[in-house]
Amino acid sequence: MTQHPSPIPCIIALGSNLGDSPTILQGALTRLSQHPQITLQQQSRWYRTAPVGPPQPDYLNGCVLLAVQLSPHALLNTLLEIEQEFGRVRRDPWGPRSLDLDIIFYGDTILETPSLTLPHPRMQDRAFVLIPLCDIAPQWVDPVTGKTVKDLANRLDCSGVHLQ
Ligand code: ADP
Ligand code: MG
Repeated sequence: MTQHPSPIPCIIALGSNLGDSPTILQGALTRLSQHPQITLQQQSRWYRTAPVGPPQPDYLNGCVLLAVQLSPHALLNTLLEIEQEFGRVRRDPWGPRSLDLDIIFYGDTILETPSLTLPHPRMQDRAFVLIPLCDIAPQWVDPVTGKTVKDLANRLDCSGVHLQ
C-alpha cells in the first residue's frame, strides 16, 4: 500500500448537478473524512454555479483542504471510488453528474501522467473552482504559474458563481 509518512496538504474540488446535490456533497465529505489516511481540515461555503457545456441544471460547487497520507494516484483512486458510490455514470464528459471530485493541488507537486495531471489542468479557467477556493486558501501558490489562487480568480469572469 502506498502511504506517505507525513501528511501532504491537498485541495479537492467538489461538484454536483444531478440528484439531491447538497446531500450527495455532504455524504462525499463524510466518506472522505472517514478515510484513515485523510483528514478534512477546511471547507469552503457552497456555491451555485452556471453549467459549462450542454444545457443542464446549475451545479453546486465547493472546495476542501485535506491533509493526505496517500500517493497522488491512491488519492485519485479513492476519489473515483467515492464518485462511483454516489452513483456517477460517465456518459457525456461535459454532461450532468451526481458527483465530481477533482484534485486541484497535491502540495506543490507538478505531475503529468495519462490518468492524472497536477495541478488540475483546467483549474485556472474555472471560476467555480477558484471562487470557493478563495474561501479557504486565497494565498495558495499555483506551482506552475507562481500566482496565488486569489490572483488567478481575479482574472476570471465570476458572474456565474453565487453563494447558495
Ligand atoms: P472533469 O472533472 O475535468 O470535468 P472528469 O471528472 O470526467 O472531468 O475526468 C475524469 C478523469 O480525469 C479521471 O478519470 C482522471 O483520470 C482524470 N484526471 C486527470 N487529472 C485529474 C485531477 N487532477 N483530478 C481528477 N481527475 C483527473
Ligand atoms: Mg473530475
